[in-house]
Amino acid sequence: MNLSDYFIHFFRLFFPKYCEACNVPLLKNEKTLCANCLYEIPKTKFHEQEDNVLNRMFYGISNIKYSSAFFYFKKGSKFRILIHKLKYAGNQELGIELGRMTGREIIGSFYDEIDVIIPVPLHPAKKRIRGYNQSEMIGIGLSEILEKEMRTDILIRHIYTETQTKKTPEERRKNVNSAFKVIKAELITGKHILLVDDVVTTGSTLVACADELLKIKGVTVSVVAVAFADI
Ligand SMILES: [Zn+2]
Repeated sequence: MNLSDYFIHFFRLFFPKYCEACNVPLLKNEKTLCANCLYEIPKTKFHEQEDNVLNRMFYGISNIKYSSAFFYFKKGSKFRILIHKLKYAGNQELGIELGRMTGREIIGSFYDEIDVIIPVPLHPAKKRIRGYNQSEMIGIGLSEILEKEMRTDILIRHIYTETQTKKTPEERRKNVNSAFKVIKAELITGKHILLVDDVVTTGSTLVACADELLKIKGVTVSVVAVAFADI
């Protein structure tokens, strides 16, 4: 044990860190999730198959190239809390870490083709209320692992949409259509963009974003999310 190991050991003794999913105290070499949860998290492995359930959701709707998500967001699963902590409990560091995990999962796949990472934007008023954009946190972690630049000044959300949870898929689509706008289009001409979201449910937000980006000459759009709601 070297000095820094001693320090971590000592620090953990008084300020133990807990698994973000199951709450057991973490061991020194564990981060965010305990080894058990890391083993059990229901990974989608969509990045190993171009033709997957998520990608099929976009067929005939939007010209999205690759689609993947880190894990399945299932009813009753202990992993749902990760998304809850990220979206509503202000846990920004968890967002970055989930981005890193997602990055480690998809690196070395067809995703290596992408040029730039763009998180799904929040309306500025909503970002002010929440204090941060959770998709941007995920993007920070992804950018670090994939070693690709993240830009938050190209795609903006200029219409504030009300909460989507009680709407039908059709209503959701109408609601988010035209909520997004591309500025500084010249910066992404001819680029392959990786659009980042927290959870994909109906995909309507991603479609609305992708459709705006695809209006720019030579742009290709792929998507990745931390979780895919398997409902
Ligand atoms: Zn755990």
